[in-house]
Amino acid sequence: MPQAAETRQASDGAARRPVAPLRRIALVLPPTGPYCREDRCQSYFSADLVPSMRPPLEEVEAAAGIRGAGGTPWVLDAPAMGLSAAAAIEQVLAFTPDAVVLTGTFGSLHDDVRFAEALRARLPQSVCIGLRGAPVYAFGAELLSAHPALDFLVHGEPELSFAALCAQGLAGAGVVRSHLPNPPAPWATSLDALPRADRTVIDPTRYRVRGTFEPQATIHVQRGCPFRCTYCLVGTVSGRKARHRDPLDVADELAELTAQGTRFFYLRAETLTLDRQWARELGDAIAARAPKARWVSATRVETADHKTLQALARGGCYGLSFGVETGSVELGKRIEKVPHLGRATEAFRACDRAGIASLMYLVVGFWWETAQTLDETRRFIAAARPDLLTTFWAHPYPGTAYHRQLTELGVVAHSAQAQAEPALEPPGICIDEIRRRVKRLTAAHYARPAVWASVARKLGPVLLPRPGAWLRHLADTFAPQVGG
Ligand code: SF4
Repeated sequence: MPQAAETRQASDGAARRPVAPLRRIALVLPPTGPYCREDRCQSYFSADLVPSMRPPLEEVEAAAGIRGAGGTPWVLDAPAMGLSAAAAIEQVLAFTPDAVVLTGTFGSLHDDVRFAEALRARLPQSVCIGLRGAPVYAFGAELLSAHPALDFLVHGEPELSFAALCAQGLAGAGVVRSHLPNPPAPWATSLDALPRADRTVIDPTRYRVRGTFEPQATIHVQRGCPFRCTYCLVGTVSGRKARHRDPLDVADELAELTAQGTRFFYLRAETLTLDRQWARELGDAIAARAPKARWVSATRVETADHKTLQALARGGCYGLSFGVETGSVELGKRIEKVPHLGRATEAFRACDRAGIASLMYLVVGFWWETAQTLDETRRFIAAARPDLLTTFWAHPYPGTAYHRQLTELGVVAHSAQAQAEPALEPPGICIDEIRRRVKRLTAAHYARPAVWASVARKLGPVLLPRPGAWLRHLADTFAPQVGG
């Protein structure tokens, strides 16, 4: 039953829009470029960086909150569907929403706002347009005064914030408006109290493991991280306190999804093995309840030991990425992630024994990068020998300590394709030289027979394309598409 019509003056002063309730909420990833739009990862999607386009996680979590509050969620992933702006707008109009919430990223923000303006011109005045995503945490209400097409911002745990948006409209906790103080963003003390993600609002066949064409789902298993790596958004968007889901509940969700035909998963954790006892219980629970699940996740070398990795492998883990970022101790001190060769080597050899492919993330082009730091990184990689290497460019995301450091130094950095291209030229080395050195160290790494042998042994049996998956992919590609 709608509450009494609460209204507010629109930011342009020309129209009045209802505040509560908002029953039909469209969650839209705008057609403004292939970015990873997860709050913690804003990287431009390129085949060598983000290995597979992942399903929109925060949106399916928001959908669960809206559904639980009695509303109707709808998700449009325009980049994954390859929609033009005009086609995306037509689809939004056809849904007849009470509110539209766009997911912005730092790299696409300018275009996201342009899309909001185009949408504003077509939507009835009663429909509110909001924005969610990492820029909301960094810029807050400034976004609203700068961009009149936006009526509100959403932050906090998606399940809780969107339930509040649905039930209380723009007065909900987690909603930011320029002219009224809203309650602070709601955070769940226990992730087990949150509803499970509602995946009925997306087409899972759009998101597949690269090379195998098998559908892949993302499962949130842990949120928040106590480490303080200066370039990382996690503390800003998920908090410093690590919260873990009940391993049995995770295993049951995996079992449900494998029964529906999804076999591959990305278990999203800031640092999967932060609590090793929990990680072992997770591996054991998945082995017992969802033995067909195969999955990858992310962690740090300091928290990975042999016993834990064995348990994860038993539970179907076939790949772990490790954010090492640099092999230089001096540079590591600047970014508050000091590399430790002994621990990295130990973690990668433990992965070998467990049969888990190890992927080392490298981040180059920090302000303090030099030829010497890159040499140290090259020697580090040669000695530690991970299986796979992925190199990102350092990006000073607003809201991070690295961004504040650069601002204090008077450095203005920009790159639209965040982390897929340089954001600045370090004073100690030019971009071209960084590129040359990264190319050389990458070539040297993949020239090692031990690397190929290890990758083939670990990934061959899991990822060898299966004819059935290829055929299903072709059928899905050419079948008429329905829904988002
Ligand atoms: S350990 Fe990983 S998630 Fe945690 S702050 Fe550092 S980079 Fe971010």
